[in-house]
Amino acid sequence: MAGFAARLLDWHARHGRRGLPWQGSRDPYRVWLSEVMLQQTQVATVIPYYERFVARWPDVQALAAAPLSEVMALWAGLGYYARARNLHRCAQGVVAEHGGRFPTSGAALAGLPGIGRSTAAAIAAFCFDERAAILDGNVKRVLARHFGIAGYPGVAPVERALWQRAQRLLPPAAAMPAYTQALMDLGATVCTRRSPCCDRCPLRATCVARRSGRVAQLPAPRPPRALRIERAHLLVALCRGRVLVEQRAPQGIWGGLFSLPQFASAAALHRALAGLGGSEPPQPLPMRRHAFTHYTLSFTPHVARLPAAVPLPAGARWLRWGEVHTAALPAPVRRLLVELAPMAQAPRAASGSG
Ligand code: SF4
Repeated sequence: MAGFAARLLDWHARHGRRGLPWQGSRDPYRVWLSEVMLQQTQVATVIPYYERFVARWPDVQALAAAPLSEVMALWAGLGYYARARNLHRCAQGVVAEHGGRFPTSGAALAGLPGIGRSTAAAIAAFCFDERAAILDGNVKRVLARHFGIAGYPGVAPVERALWQRAQRLLPPAAAMPAYTQALMDLGATVCTRRSPCCDRCPLRATCVARRSGRVAQLPAPRPPRALRIERAHLLVALCRGRVLVEQRAPQGIWGGLFSLPQFASAAALHRALAGLGGSEPPQPLPMRRHAFTHYTLSFTPHVARLPAAVPLPAGARWLRWGEVHTAALPAPVRRLLVELAPMAQAPRAASGSG
């Protein structure tokens, strides 16, 4: 559509976001890091994580050489932990297979772990001026509304239509970094999900959703689905001002993070506790819930005290209470431990009695 890119660029020059720490960078490492962190995560949440990452690992070589456990620890709290594992794998791949330099085309970038088509396009556009279209959730919303594209954008035919639109709108190569940023900014600050500001929008004159009164209906929401509930029992085993944690398998929910030993039933937890030398019945706490994208975890913590010298299972370790804020723990487990800290450090635990 003639003028779409021009209007966006003009708007961005006057009203685009300024001062984000990754903005204006042509360094693919920094652009990649910010794009991965921004997937499904708000800018305000990402900024401190991004700054800590680049301070600790200023380039892809440094990140590739870091132990995965340190990467996971610094990522803890940002959620969607597969991103952190892929980040580390990707850094190692860039060093091992590309001599420490990111590939310079969107197609090659999309072959790296954890880099999807839209993220690859963003890196290629920002760093190498490639005419590659991005299509993250915000951009899907802008295009679905502006062009009146019905249907849930997560289904293949709708997504295909959006990619085709996105590709046809691209400006000449030299304008790609500003255009890509403009589209992101418009989706984040003007054409927002809940309260779009059409009066301030540079695309309002041609916006189909606005003209037809369908702004609130587009894009179509995800079709409802029944979320399954998974139940679990978590052992909070205390000993001498420490709590027992174990590293989870690399794949799956909370993969690679340290967490509380988890069991499918209270009976299984009691058996494991007996195996660790726990002689008193554990104290169950009220059930808690944590929502994942595809299911809800409903878990019951059980607090128990262990004797001082117990042989730990493989992958398990004692975590000192002072480490709770910095260890690579899933957010709901960290919250639980922070709440339990006063009780866990009460005189009985501090004395080290079983
Ligand atoms: S006019 Fe409104 S609905 Fe249309 S693109 Fe702009 S902000 Fe979004």
